[in-house]
Amino acid sequence: MAAVEGFNRAVRPGTFDPGSLDSCRAEGLDPPKSHWARPIDTPPYYGYPLRPGITFTYLGVTVDEQARVIMQDERPAKNIFAAGEVMAGNILGKGYLAGFGLTIGSVFGRIAGREAARRATA
Ligand SMILES: Cc1cc2nc3c(=O)[nH]c(=O)nc-3n(C[C@H](O)[C@H](O)[C@H](O)COP(=O)(O)OP(=O)(O)OC[C@H]3O[C@@H](n4cnc5c(N)ncnc54)[C@H](O)[C@@H]3O)c2cc1C
Repeated sequence: MAAVEGFNRAVRPGTFDPGSLDSCRAEGLDPPKSHWARPIDTPPYYGYPLRPGITFTYLGVTVDEQARVIMQDERPAKNIFAAGEVMAGNILGKGYLAGFGLTIGSVFGRIAGREAARRATA
């Protein structure tokens, strides 16, 4: 209850617009809520458990077309290969297409596996 009352006190008047970064903010909260802040004062209330996950970080290692990891000297490692999330930034710099996560893992997993086997049996 104290958390809700504190939040409500922090809410500043604004014009609510769920479709844009509106002017409804709450002052003095940590982390700050810069938009869509509205007092919680009208029932009915609903609670939902949230379990966030990271789909992409867009960061990770760089690979070449053989899935070899590019090292700091900008040369490909002979025996380090990467596939999937850890190298997805090579394919997607931003945004997302449905199914791309598993596609990147499958396609580069096959390439990395093939190249690692080739290296191991050379
Ligand atoms: C909520 C959510 C929804 C998604 N929906 C889709 C979708 O609909 N379609 C789609 O294509 N993609 C989707 N993705 C993305 C997709 O799930 C991922 O891109 C894919 O699972 C990545 O596979 P990966 O093998 O590269 O990495 P991961 O599946 O993350 O596997 C990495 C593994 O390494 C292990 N690990 C980490 N550190 C260590 C360590 N030090 N030692 C040993 N093991 C370690 C981890 O425990 C994990 O098992 C979704 C992702 C999320 C989070």
